[in-house]
Amino acid sequence: MIALILSCLLFFSCGQNQMPVQTEYVFGTVCSINLFDEGTQGLYEECFSLLNFIDDTFNVNEDFSEISKINQNAGSKVQVSKMTFELVGLAKMIFEKTDGAFNPALGTLINLWGIGKENQNVPSQQKIDEAIKHCDASLIELEKTGDDKNEKFFVCLKDEKMQLDLGGIVKGFAADEIVKLLKSKNVKKGIIDLGGNIYVYGQKSDDKNSKWKVGIKNPFANSSDPNSQVFKTIELDFGSVVTSGNYERFFIKDGERYHHLLDAKTGRPAQTGLASVTVVYEQSVLCDALATAYFVAGKNANFVERLRLQGAQVIFVEEK
Ligand code: ADP
Ligand code: MG
Repeated sequence: MIALILSCLLFFSCGQNQMPVQTEYVFGTVCSINLFDEGTQGLYEECFSLLNFIDDTFNVNEDFSEISKINQNAGSKVQVSKMTFELVGLAKMIFEKTDGAFNPALGTLINLWGIGKENQNVPSQQKIDEAIKHCDASLIELEKTGDDKNEKFFVCLKDEKMQLDLGGIVKGFAADEIVKLLKSKNVKKGIIDLGGNIYVYGQKSDDKNSKWKVGIKNPFANSSDPNSQVFKTIELDFGSVVTSGNYERFFIKDGERYHHLLDAKTGRPAQTGLASVTVVYEQSVLCDALATAYFVAGKNANFVERLRLQGAQVIFVEEK
């Protein structure tokens, strides 16, 4: 939100061919990039075609995506791109380090609940018990063959009913890829906002003491009170701020809230007394995965320490 305010203020300082901010719908959400006075149409086009390419690769709802190819062929070995191989490998590593709180193999359970989709419902315990059996991400097998010039990459789901879903990590990965692209072009600064998954890149201004400010959404905000929208403001030199919350996607049935962050141990939306978790760190992919993991495991988890993420911050907002 504060990032948005900043972009509006800087709108007027741009030259004629520059666009202060570009917004498109990608990853099923509103994504905007602000490159200030370096924001040319060509550069924005490159950024958004990269985002769309990443979405097309990992989108479980598109039959042609690489993730769908892996899912359609569960039980068999599927050749994939290096990008998919690496992100699936990273997701599996985080699964191990978080004792399964972050789990990239929850597809069967996610489809069963359908949260945020037309078929959302509370499944029977029998169906939940059946789905949980097929969520063991340690059965994702990764294989690389050939030498440097002729490498081939494969993913195999050793359980033929298992389904991958990288929705809990892909926006963070995409934000890091945009940062890499901007660095390669020597772009000095930018704000990347992929549906609330924020990366503030480069030095904010010539004044080295001036920091970026990113607001964390207040899960209990009152829609009619603009002053209640931000829970806390984070100040940082550069890096990513990512929040996972139970207010993002949910439905209510018989007075109970069913949200989209699932715990593979129970097969149900995680209930750890948290309304949201925010992770601040220089790699957005880790912020994204760990925000989900902490939400599921609760505030006593020590994932940042286990992964040795120096300088990372985790902010918990408890349920009322
Ligand atoms: P959002 O997509 O709302 O920004 P998250 O990054 O926390 O939020 O990702 C939530 C998505 O991740 C869910 O919609 C689902 O696709 C997937 N998911 C749900 N539970 C888990 C989990 N325990 N581990 C990994 N991914 C999950
Ligand atoms: Mg996440």
